[in-house]
Amino acid sequence: MEHNFKKKFGQNFLKDTNLLNAIVQDGGISTQDEVLEIGAGAGALTKQLSLNAKRVVSYEIDLDLKSKLLDLGLNNVKFIFKDALKEPIEEIENNFEGNYKLVANLPYYITSPLIFKFLQESKKLISMTIMVQKEVAERIIAKEGGKDYGILSVMTQFYSVPKICRTVGRQMFYPAPNVDSAVVNLELNKTRFAINEKEFYEFIKKCFSMRRKTLLNNLQGYKNFDKKQIGNLLKDFDLSKRPETFSLEKFVEMFKKF
Ligand code: SAM
Repeated sequence: MEHNFKKKFGQNFLKDTNLLNAIVQDGGISTQDEVLEIGAGAGALTKQLSLNAKRVVSYEIDLDLKSKLLDLGLNNVKFIFKDALKEPIEEIENNFEGNYKLVANLPYYITSPLIFKFLQESKKLISMTIMVQKEVAERIIAKEGGKDYGILSVMTQFYSVPKICRTVGRQMFYPAPNVDSAVVNLELNKTRFAINEKEFYEFIKKCFSMRRKTLLNNLQGYKNFDKKQIGNLLKDFDLSKRPETFSLEKFVEMFKKF
């Protein structure tokens, strides 16, 4: 393919049809589904999605790919040549009549902000099936106690049930990146905990502000409470432990005490 690959846009394209089909299957895509893709690239995944879904809306930031994508002649695909991270969520979701699924081989330089944007702001998203760096996938599914467990694990598991569908070697991409990848599926489950999401996110950021410190030290000053007050409020928890030792459920219990 004639294309000047742009590292700054995270352009690592796929072409193996078996792998592309497997990703579509991982997303549970059927002919009733409306699908959002972020980062169409040369349209390899877009094409497989278009064959399996009812409709596809696909964002691409790189205008150099526009004519190539439009020439594919995919009738049930709407291409939008804009920055998906900057596009307000309402604008993105106005493209869909009902609920939709996100399937994407994500540009790695904006993986976390994109995941957070959709988990926190979407109103109609059912699931996300995304290719991410393997190391990010491991952080997403990590449970308490391990080195991979942190804000990304707690927050993705707060909003969804994540699983790794498959790992994908770097040689499957062109050009090949320096790391291996994995496809992760996140089934959204936003109503599991009836608490204020934004405040919970702020609380979790405070809990993990210093990984090597105890939870008590990290929480000092949260909502202007001093250590003694926090110790009293959270007397049922061992605050001398580090944040990564607490489960999502424990963090929710603690948050409710404030
Ligand atoms: N889907 C294609 C594939 O699997 O072969 C391309 C995937 S490539 C990893 C990521 C794509 O996202 C690139 O084409 C890149 O130009 C595009 N991209 C990067 N940043 C973007 C953004 N902010 N909004 C929309 N597309 C973006």
